[in-house]
Amino acid sequence: MSPQLVWFRNDLRLVDHAALCAAAAAGPVVALFVLDDETPGAWRMGAAQRWWLHHSLADLGQRIAERGGRLILRRGRAGPIVRALAAELGADVHAIVHHEPWAAVQEAEAGDVRRHHGATLAPPANVLSGTGGRYRIFTPWWKKLLEQMPPPRPLPEPALRWADVSALPSDDLAQWRLRPTKPDWSTGFGEWQPGEAGALARLTAFARIAARYDDTRNLPSVEGSSRLSPHLALGEVSPATAWHAIADAVGENTAEPWLRELGWRDFSANIIDQFPDHGDAPNRDAFNRFPFLDDPAGLNAWQHGQTGYPIVDAGMRQLWASGWMHNRVRMITASFLVKHQLIDWRHGERWFWDTLLDADYGNNAQGWQWVMGSGVDSSPFNRIFAPVGQSEKFDAATYIRRWVPELAKLPDGLIHAPWEAGVALIRAGVKLGRDYPAPIVDHNQARARALAAWGQVKAGE
Ligand SMILES: Cc1cc2nc3c(=O)[nH]c(=O)nc-3n(C[C@H](O)[C@H](O)[C@H](O)COP(=O)(O)OP(=O)(O)OC[C@H]3O[C@@H](n4cnc5c(N)ncnc54)[C@H](O)[C@@H]3O)c2cc1C
Repeated sequence: MSPQLVWFRNDLRLVDHAALCAAAAAGPVVALFVLDDETPGAWRMGAAQRWWLHHSLADLGQRIAERGGRLILRRGRAGPIVRALAAELGADVHAIVHHEPWAAVQEAEAGDVRRHHGATLAPPANVLSGTGGRYRIFTPWWKKLLEQMPPPRPLPEPALRWADVSALPSDDLAQWRLRPTKPDWSTGFGEWQPGEAGALARLTAFARIAARYDDTRNLPSVEGSSRLSPHLALGEVSPATAWHAIADAVGENTAEPWLRELGWRDFSANIIDQFPDHGDAPNRDAFNRFPFLDDPAGLNAWQHGQTGYPIVDAGMRQLWASGWMHNRVRMITASFLVKHQLIDWRHGERWFWDTLLDADYGNNAQGWQWVMGSGVDSSPFNRIFAPVGQSEKFDAATYIRRWVPELAKLPDGLIHAPWEAGVALIRAGVKLGRDYPAPIVDHNQARARALAAWGQVKAGE
């Protein structure tokens, strides 16, 4: 029987891996991962996620070794590497289909690849309207997807026979230098456990609180969401496994708000499958004429949590320190950059790409274009989040105290807008401009400026 090459990409797991199962049924298996910084071009994996990748590959390599196999590591342009190795071994190639634009290029260059489903709940091209068209709006798409749900039960890890690859060269993971050293900015990532076991532990922990998700998911001070996103991004757990774990734990109806969010991940894949350049180009052409400001100092203040708006700064500091940010705060910080600061959404998208452990091309592009109002299905531009109002409404005081400790002594009611805190600010020993920045823009003025910019764009539509 000819060897069966399993080409792992962002599906670093052994359970519910259709490519691995098909390969195991057909012959002795060879496991391969290629670090490809070439095909994605500017969308090569960002710095924070490389840290995750290191640990995830170490975990997968160890699990494969425990089962008597060996994970072959190669670095370079994936397609030609896969093609050459398959030819050298006389192997069939199996891979899970991914929907990033570069994934299709990799597959085309790799030659004859047996493509298997498993990165999404359903293949994006299978969710079609009555007339056979593709969806662009989430709600009708979600209703249609639900007709195909639940997804098939996860495939168990297959019994594996390994091809003898002891003579094959493989890179040393440590030599890839995926982890930062000088300086090591990953010290705050300790709460995470990359790898398949970590993903399962996270899923099990979330199942215990999933029934409360709808009440708590918008509250940054509360751990109300699953935090599965980095695990899902690198495929350590399949979306089908996640679906069934939570639906089994609390019932499909109670789980619906969470399953719907998981659905957004599939929807993003559906969008980039139709609009591969969604990460670079606004879906609405008028936004190509948006009068963005060139403001490096403003961008720097936003990136480093120095805008003077505590909820924005807390979010940006959480991102930098922990590699993750609460969804509500992602919306607030993104809106602040594009609407209060009039800075091009692509600068924010790139920063997220580099600093998020869960960086996902489709979700990130979809998130930013949704906030900008330029996307396929997005919030209207003139819906401008008021950062203070959002902070109060979603009760962010505890969250702000954690990530902006210089304001920790302010009472709950005043921590959202320290410039209005008067005597309390003095009592807390905080001087604006010295201990914490004064707001870099005035909310009302910024709002008026954003609406004027939008008016200019609309006039040209
Ligand atoms: C500007 C912006 C940028 C974003 N960039 C990313 C990104 O790069 N990677 C990423 O995974 N998510 C991104 N999101 C979506 C969302 O913020 C995260 O998926 C979520 O916060 C992850 O936390 P969680 O795992 O606890 O989510 P939960 O609420 O527990 O949701 C479960 C899973 O569903 C998916 N999901 C949840 N919300 C969304 C959503 N709005 N869009 C798409 N999928 C969703 C994620 O895979 C998530 O892990 C972005 C959102 C915004 C507004």
